Amino acid sequence: MRRKIIAGNWKMNQTPKEAEALIKDLKGKVDSVDSDVVFCVPYVDLKLAVELLEGTSIAVGAQNVHAMDKGAYTGEISALMLKEIGVKYVIIGHSERRQYFGETDESVNEKVKKSLSVGLIPIICVGESIVQRKQGVTIDFVRVQTRIALLGVPAEDAQRLVIAYEPIWAIGTGLTATSGQAEEVCAGIRRFLAEIYDEETASKIRIQYGGSVSGANARELFEMPNIDGGLVGGASLKPEFEKIVNYAPR
Ligand code: PEP
Repeated sequence: MRRKIIAGNWKMNQTPKEAEALIKDLKGKVDSVDSDVVFCVPYVDLKLAVELLEGTSIAVGAQNVHAMDKGAYTGEISALMLKEIGVKYVIIGHSERRQYFGETDESVNEKVKKSLSVGLIPIICVGESIVQRKQGVTIDFVRVQTRIALLGVPAEDAQRLVIAYEPIWAIGTGLTATSGQAEEVCAGIRRFLAEIYDEETASKIRIQYGGSVSGANARELFEMPNIDGGLVGGASLKPEFEKIVNYAPR
């Protein structure tokens, strides 16, 4: 039985002062629940988040990482740096990074391998555009993204990571994939994982859905057999996050 994982992607929001207030407000409301809960905060908020969340069950995640250990990469942050300050997860290959910052399937793969090698848990984002959905190539496209992201990742490492299926047309738009659409792709990803690894490995990898998850739709999405929680953008900054995390009655 896979444990659900619900991660908030704060994107480029919350100065350290704002982050402190939000974490203090949310932490009591989303702690010790039946799912893993992660706050993926901006780099400058990471250390503060780790300190404020110490002693709770809430983990801290970054939103990006560099693939190299160290060196002349001005402005970048390494996996070891994240690990050393107590970060546990890292979002890799978010569609906004692919769109605005030139992230490619190949760079995603390098970052995934580096993160795993230092003990960080990657949350690998995949998902189709509205054009690809209309062309009927969603599954093919997501399979390629998944295949390249996992090149050279052995099964025992793959079991630790998380895949976030995020249709680009549903991110920040208020449009949500129906639970049926989301389940179809997440099940397709799991079948593909069984092809490239084996059934047992595929059954252990957690697959989230992301794209306008809200308090109103979380339960229907998260109750799907192949959806193991969500990657939540906009709603992770609102009191609504409590409702999403507590989507199932306790
Ligand atoms: C995201 O940023 O990963 C996301 C899914 O955003 P939103 O929930 O706002 O659509």
